[in-house]
Amino acid sequence: MKRNITIRSNNLDISLKIKNILREKFEAIDFQVTDNIQENTELVISIGGDGSFLKAAHELDFPDIPFICVNTGHLGFFAEVLPNESEIDFFIESYIKKDYKINSLDLLELDVIGDGKFKTDYAINELVVRGNKSRTAHLNLYVNKDYMETFSGDGLIISTSTGSTAYNYSAGGSIVDNRLQIMQITPISPISTNAFRSFTSSIILPARNSEISVMPEYKSDNFIIIVIDGEELKYENIIEIKTRLAEKKIKLLRLSGYEFWDRVYMKFLKTFDYKELEKRTIYRDNLINNIK
Ligand code: NAP
Ligand code: MN
Repeated sequence: MKRNITIRSNNLDISLKIKNILREKFEAIDFQVTDNIQENTELVISIGGDGSFLKAAHELDFPDIPFICVNTGHLGFFAEVLPNESEIDFFIESYIKKDYKINSLDLLELDVIGDGKFKTDYAINELVVRGNKSRTAHLNLYVNKDYMETFSGDGLIISTSTGSTAYNYSAGGSIVDNRLQIMQITPISPISTNAFRSFTSSIILPARNSEISVMPEYKSDNFIIIVIDGEELKYENIIEIKTRLAEKKIKLLRLSGYEFWDRVYMKFLKTFDYKELEKRTIYRDNLINNIK
Protein backbone atom coordinates (compact mmCIF):
# COMPACT_ATOMS: atom_id res chain seq x y z
CA MET A 1 0.00 0.00 0.00
CA LYS A 2 1.28 3.46 -0.93
CA ARG A 3 2.00 6.04 1.77
CA ASN A 4 -0.75 8.66 1.87
CA ILE A 5 -0.63 12.43 2.31
CA THR A 6 -3.84 14.46 2.61
CA ILE A 7 -3.87 18.06 1.40
CA ARG A 8 -6.43 20.67 2.53
CA SER A 9 -6.33 24.06 0.90
CA ASN A 10 -8.30 27.28 0.72
CA ASN A 11 -9.39 28.49 -2.70
CA LEU A 12 -6.78 31.14 -3.37
CA ASP A 13 -4.96 30.74 -6.72
CA ILE A 14 -1.61 30.61 -4.97
CA SER A 15 -2.87 27.88 -2.61
CA LEU A 16 -4.16 25.76 -5.47
CA LYS A 17 -0.86 26.20 -7.29
CA ILE A 18 1.07 25.09 -4.21
CA LYS A 19 -1.31 22.15 -3.82
CA ASN A 20 -0.50 21.01 -7.38
CA ILE A 21 3.22 21.37 -6.83
CA LEU A 22 3.02 19.35 -3.62
CA ARG A 23 0.88 16.68 -5.27
CA GLU A 24 3.34 16.29 -8.17
CA LYS A 25 6.36 16.16 -5.91
CA PHE A 26 4.86 13.61 -3.52
CA GLU A 27 3.50 11.45 -6.34
CA ALA A 28 6.94 11.50 -7.94
CA ILE A 29 8.30 9.77 -4.85
CA ASP A 30 5.48 7.24 -4.92
CA PHE A 31 3.08 8.73 -2.38
CA GLN A 32 -0.67 8.78 -2.86
CA VAL A 33 -2.21 12.25 -2.38
CA THR A 34 -5.88 12.72 -1.44
CA ASP A 35 -8.23 15.50 -0.30
CA ASN A 36 -9.62 13.43 2.54
CA ILE A 37 -8.05 11.29 5.19
CA GLN A 38 -7.61 7.62 4.32
CA GLU A 39 -6.79 4.71 6.56
CA ASN A 40 -3.13 5.07 5.67
CA THR A 41 -2.83 8.88 5.85
CA GLU A 42 0.31 9.85 7.71
CA LEU A 43 0.34 13.64 7.30
CA VAL A 44 -2.14 16.43 6.57
CA ILE A 45 -0.82 19.47 4.73
CA SER A 46 -2.90 22.61 5.25
CA ILE A 47 -2.42 25.37 2.68
CA GLY A 48 -3.75 28.82 3.59
CA GLY A 49 -3.62 30.92 6.75
CA ASP A 50 -4.07 30.00 10.39
CA GLY A 51 -7.81 29.97 9.81
CA SER A 52 -7.40 27.28 7.14
CA PHE A 53 -5.53 25.08 9.60
CA LEU A 54 -8.19 25.60 12.28
CA LYS A 55 -10.90 24.77 9.74
CA ALA A 56 -9.10 21.66 8.47
CA ALA A 57 -8.56 20.36 12.00
CA HIS A 58 -12.27 20.83 12.81
CA GLU A 59 -13.49 19.38 9.50
CA LEU A 60 -11.26 16.32 9.85
CA ASP A 61 -12.39 15.90 13.47
CA PHE A 62 -8.99 16.28 15.12
CA PRO A 63 -7.31 13.17 13.77
CA ASP A 64 -4.29 11.65 15.49
CA ILE A 65 -2.14 12.52 12.47
CA PRO A 66 0.32 15.44 12.33
CA PHE A 67 -0.46 18.58 10.34
CA ILE A 68 1.95 20.91 8.61
CA CYS A 69 0.90 24.36 7.40
CA VAL A 70 2.03 26.13 4.25
CA ASN A 71 1.31 29.81 4.63
CA THR A 72 -0.48 31.60 1.83
CA GLY A 73 -2.53 33.66 4.32
CA HIS A 74 -1.67 36.77 6.27
CA LEU A 75 -0.03 35.96 9.57
CA GLY A 76 0.62 32.23 9.42
CA PHE A 77 1.47 31.76 13.07
CA PHE A 78 1.06 27.98 12.71
CA ALA A 79 2.91 27.80 9.40
CA GLU A 80 6.19 25.99 8.91
CA VAL A 81 6.57 26.35 5.14
CA LEU A 82 6.51 29.44 2.93
CA PRO A 83 4.85 29.11 -0.46
CA ASN A 84 7.92 28.80 -2.65
CA GLU A 85 9.69 25.92 -4.34
CA SER A 86 12.85 25.88 -2.24
CA GLU A 87 10.87 25.86 1.02
CA ILE A 88 8.70 23.05 -0.33
CA ASP A 89 11.76 21.04 -1.35
CA PHE A 90 13.30 21.59 2.07
CA PHE A 91 10.09 20.40 3.73
CA ILE A 92 9.81 17.23 1.59
CA GLU A 93 13.48 16.40 2.11
CA SER A 94 13.19 16.89 5.87
CA TYR A 95 9.99 14.85 5.96
CA ILE A 96 11.52 11.90 4.11
CA LYS A 97 14.62 12.02 6.31
CA LYS A 98 12.36 12.29 9.40
CA ASP A 99 14.22 15.45 10.29
CA TYR A 100 11.41 17.11 12.22
CA LYS A 101 9.79 17.31 15.62
CA ILE A 102 6.19 16.82 16.61
CA ASN A 103 4.66 19.65 18.62
CA SER A 104 1.51 18.48 20.40
CA LEU A 105 -1.00 21.23 21.08
CA ASP A 106 -3.48 21.08 23.92
CA LEU A 107 -7.15 21.30 23.07
CA LEU A 108 -10.09 22.51 25.09
CA GLU A 109 -13.04 20.19 25.39
CA LEU A 110 -16.30 21.94 25.95
CA ASP A 111 -19.85 20.90 26.70
CA VAL A 112 -22.69 23.18 25.76
CA ILE A 113 -25.69 22.33 27.90
CA GLY A 114 -29.19 23.70 27.47
CA ASP A 115 -32.80 22.61 27.17
CA GLY A 116 -31.89 18.96 27.16
CA LYS A 117 -29.58 19.53 24.20
CA PHE A 118 -25.98 18.64 24.72
CA LYS A 119 -23.05 19.25 22.44
CA THR A 120 -19.37 18.50 22.94
CA ASP A 121 -16.77 20.30 20.89
CA TYR A 122 -13.05 20.98 20.82
CA ALA A 123 -11.06 24.19 20.46
CA ILE A 124 -7.46 24.77 19.44
CA ASN A 125 -7.30 28.53 20.11
CA GLU A 126 -10.27 29.49 22.19
CA LEU A 127 -13.89 29.56 23.11
CA VAL A 128 -15.57 32.97 23.21
CA VAL A 129 -18.88 33.52 24.96
CA ARG A 130 -20.51 36.83 24.06
CA GLY A 131 -23.80 38.66 24.08
CA ASN A 132 -26.31 38.42 21.28
CA LYS A 133 -26.79 41.44 18.96
CA SER A 134 -23.98 43.41 20.64
CA ARG A 135 -25.81 43.39 23.97
CA THR A 136 -23.96 43.26 27.26
CA ALA A 137 -23.27 39.69 28.29
CA HIS A 138 -23.83 38.76 31.94
CA LEU A 139 -21.99 35.57 32.69
CA ASN A 140 -21.60 33.72 35.95
CA LEU A 141 -18.17 32.20 36.11
CA TYR A 142 -17.31 29.17 38.22
CA VAL A 143 -13.97 27.41 38.56
CA ASN A 144 -14.12 23.85 39.84
CA LYS A 145 -17.67 24.55 41.01
CA ASP A 146 -16.58 27.57 43.07
CA TYR A 147 -18.27 30.84 42.18
CA MET A 148 -15.71 33.34 40.89
CA GLU A 149 -17.51 36.36 39.48
CA THR A 150 -20.42 37.61 37.49
CA PHE A 151 -18.86 39.05 34.40
CA SER A 152 -20.58 41.90 32.60
CA GLY A 153 -19.24 43.24 29.36
CA ASP A 154 -18.76 42.15 25.75
CA GLY A 155 -17.74 38.61 26.56
CA LEU A 156 -15.19 36.16 27.88
CA ILE A 157 -12.39 34.40 26.01
CA ILE A 158 -11.22 31.05 27.34
CA SER A 159 -7.98 30.38 25.57
CA THR A 160 -5.35 27.65 25.40
CA SER A 161 -1.70 28.62 25.42
CA THR A 162 -1.80 28.07 21.64
CA GLY A 163 -4.64 30.59 21.36
CA SER A 164 -2.89 33.08 23.64
CA THR A 165 -1.34 34.81 20.62
CA ALA A 166 -4.69 35.08 18.83
CA TYR A 167 -7.87 36.86 20.02
CA ASN A 168 -6.67 36.60 23.62
CA TYR A 169 -3.68 38.80 22.86
CA SER A 170 -5.78 41.44 21.07
CA ALA A 171 -8.02 41.62 24.14
CA GLY A 172 -5.05 42.33 26.39
CA GLY A 173 -4.33 38.76 27.51
CA SER A 174 -0.84 37.40 28.00
CA ILE A 175 1.18 35.43 25.50
CA VAL A 176 1.84 32.01 27.00
CA ASP A 177 4.59 29.62 25.98
CA ASN A 178 2.76 26.70 24.41
CA ARG A 179 4.71 24.21 26.51
CA LEU A 180 2.58 25.37 29.47
CA GLN A 181 -0.73 23.64 30.06
CA ILE A 182 -3.05 26.44 31.07
CA MET A 183 -6.45 27.96 30.40
CA GLN A 184 -6.55 31.73 30.28
CA ILE A 185 -9.81 33.60 30.87
CA THR A 186 -9.65 37.05 29.30
CA PRO A 187 -12.46 39.59 29.57
CA ILE A 188 -13.55 41.58 26.53
CA SER A 189 -14.43 45.11 27.60
CA PRO A 190 -15.43 44.28 31.18
CA ILE A 191 -17.70 46.75 32.94
CA SER A 192 -16.21 47.80 36.24
CA THR A 193 -18.62 50.09 38.06
CA ASN A 194 -20.75 50.04 41.19
CA ALA A 195 -23.45 48.45 39.06
CA PHE A 196 -21.34 45.61 37.61
CA ARG A 197 -17.91 44.60 38.76
CA SER A 198 -15.70 41.86 37.35
CA PHE A 199 -12.01 41.16 36.78
CA THR A 200 -10.49 43.62 34.35
CA SER A 201 -7.50 41.48 33.47
CA SER A 202 -6.90 37.84 32.53
CA ILE A 203 -6.82 35.02 34.99
CA ILE A 204 -4.73 31.94 34.31
CA LEU A 205 -5.55 28.47 35.61
CA PRO A 206 -3.71 25.18 35.43
CA ALA A 207 -5.41 23.28 32.63
CA ARG A 208 -5.10 19.88 34.25
CA ASN A 209 -7.92 19.11 36.68
CA SER A 210 -9.63 22.48 36.24
CA GLU A 211 -13.13 22.92 34.98
CA ILE A 212 -14.42 26.32 33.98
CA SER A 213 -18.14 26.79 33.93
CA VAL A 214 -19.93 29.75 32.34
CA MET A 215 -23.63 30.17 33.15
CA PRO A 216 -25.31 33.02 31.27
CA GLU A 217 -27.73 35.31 33.06
CA TYR A 218 -30.40 36.33 30.59
CA LYS A 219 -31.79 39.84 30.84
CA SER A 220 -33.21 41.05 27.51
CA ASP A 221 -33.15 37.85 25.44
CA ASN A 222 -32.16 34.26 25.97
CA PHE A 223 -29.52 33.96 23.26
CA ILE A 224 -25.84 33.81 23.76
CA ILE A 225 -23.19 33.55 21.07
CA ILE A 226 -20.44 30.98 21.26
CA VAL A 227 -17.42 31.26 19.01
CA ILE A 228 -15.07 28.29 18.74
CA ASP A 229 -11.82 29.00 16.88
CA GLY A 230 -13.57 31.77 14.95
CA GLU A 231 -16.65 29.72 14.06
CA GLU A 232 -19.84 31.25 15.44
CA LEU A 233 -22.66 29.22 16.95
CA LYS A 234 -25.89 30.66 18.27
CA TYR A 235 -28.04 28.75 20.74
CA GLU A 236 -31.20 29.59 22.59
CA ASN A 237 -31.45 28.97 26.34
CA ILE A 238 -27.93 27.82 27.06
CA ILE A 239 -27.73 26.91 30.70
CA GLU A 240 -24.05 26.17 31.02
CA ILE A 241 -20.82 25.89 29.06
CA LYS A 242 -18.21 23.68 30.70
CA THR A 243 -14.60 23.80 29.57
CA ARG A 244 -11.69 21.55 30.47
CA LEU A 245 -8.47 20.23 29.01
CA ALA A 246 -9.17 17.58 26.37
CA GLU A 247 -7.50 14.20 26.45
CA LYS A 248 -6.82 14.42 22.74
CA LYS A 249 -4.34 16.76 21.16
CA ILE A 250 -3.54 18.08 17.73
CA LYS A 251 -0.05 17.53 16.39
CA LEU A 252 2.00 19.92 14.32
CA LEU A 253 5.11 18.92 12.43
CA ARG A 254 7.95 21.32 13.17
CA LEU A 255 10.93 21.52 10.89
CA SER A 256 14.36 22.32 12.27
CA GLY A 257 14.71 25.76 13.77
CA TYR A 258 11.26 26.08 15.35
CA GLU A 259 11.35 27.98 18.63
CA PHE A 260 8.15 29.35 20.16
CA TRP A 261 9.54 32.73 21.23
CA ASP A 262 11.43 33.20 18.01
CA ARG A 263 8.13 32.67 16.21
CA VAL A 264 6.47 35.26 18.46
CA TYR A 265 9.23 37.74 17.72
CA MET A 266 9.11 37.13 13.97
CA LYS A 267 5.32 37.35 13.74
CA PHE A 268 4.61 40.13 16.23
CA LEU A 269 7.56 42.44 16.59
CA LYS A 270 9.88 42.04 13.68
CA THR A 271 9.71 44.85 11.20
CA PHE A 272 12.07 44.99 8.32
CA ASP A 273 14.54 46.87 10.45
CA TYR A 274 17.83 45.36 9.41
CA LYS A 275 19.73 46.93 12.31
CA GLU A 276 17.48 45.12 14.77
CA LEU A 277 17.88 41.88 12.85
CA GLU A 278 21.64 42.34 12.90
CA LYS A 279 21.61 42.87 16.67
CA ARG A 280 19.68 39.65 17.13
CA THR A 281 21.94 37.72 14.79
CA ILE A 282 25.04 38.99 16.58
CA TYR A 283 23.51 38.11 19.94
CA ARG A 284 22.67 34.59 18.81
CA ASP A 285 26.04 34.07 17.12
CA ASN A 286 27.73 35.12 20.35
CA LEU A 287 25.60 32.69 22.28
CA ILE A 288 26.45 29.87 19.90
CA ASN A 289 30.18 30.75 19.99
CA ASN A 290 30.11 30.85 23.76
CA ILE A 291 28.52 27.42 23.94
CA LYS A 292 31.09 25.88 21.58
P1 NAP B 1 -9.07 35.82 10.97
O1 NAP B 1 -10.03 36.93 11.12
O2 NAP B 1 -8.27 35.72 9.74
O3 NAP B 1 -8.08 35.78 12.25
C1 NAP B 1 -7.51 36.93 12.77
C2 NAP B 1 -6.02 36.79 12.81
O4 NAP B 1 -5.64 35.84 13.82
C3 NAP B 1 -5.39 36.28 11.50
O5 NAP B 1 -4.28 37.08 11.18
C4 NAP B 1 -4.97 34.86 11.85
O6 NAP B 1 -3.85 34.42 11.08
C5 NAP B 1 -4.59 35.04 13.31
N1 NAP B 1 -4.49 33.84 14.15
C6 NAP B 1 -5.30 32.76 14.22
N2 NAP B 1 -4.85 31.90 15.15
C7 NAP B 1 -3.73 32.45 15.69
C8 NAP B 1 -2.83 32.06 16.71
N3 NAP B 1 -2.98 30.92 17.39
N4 NAP B 1 -1.81 32.89 17.03
C9 NAP B 1 -1.66 34.07 16.39
N5 NAP B 1 -2.48 34.49 15.42
C10 NAP B 1 -3.51 33.69 15.07
O7 NAP B 1 -9.89 34.45 11.22
P2 NAP B 1 -9.32 32.97 11.13
O8 NAP B 1 -8.11 32.95 10.28
O9 NAP B 1 -10.49 32.10 10.82
O10 NAP B 1 -8.84 32.68 12.63
C11 NAP B 1 -9.73 32.47 13.67
C12 NAP B 1 -9.14 33.12 14.88
O11 NAP B 1 -9.21 34.53 14.75
C13 NAP B 1 -9.88 32.86 16.16
O12 NAP B 1 -9.52 31.64 16.74
C14 NAP B 1 -9.51 34.07 17.00
O13 NAP B 1 -8.40 33.79 17.83
C15 NAP B 1 -9.06 35.12 16.00
N6 NAP B 1 -9.84 36.34 16.16
C16 NAP B 1 -9.22 37.45 16.57
C17 NAP B 1 -9.91 38.63 16.80
C18 NAP B 1 -9.16 39.80 17.30
O14 NAP B 1 -7.93 39.71 17.39
N7 NAP B 1 -9.80 40.88 17.64
C19 NAP B 1 -11.28 38.67 16.60
C20 NAP B 1 -11.91 37.51 16.16
C21 NAP B 1 -11.19 36.33 15.94
P3 NAP B 1 -3.96 34.22 9.46
O15 NAP B 1 -3.83 35.59 8.91
O16 NAP B 1 -2.80 33.35 9.11
O17 NAP B 1 -5.30 33.58 9.20
MN1 MN C 1 -7.40 34.05 8.61
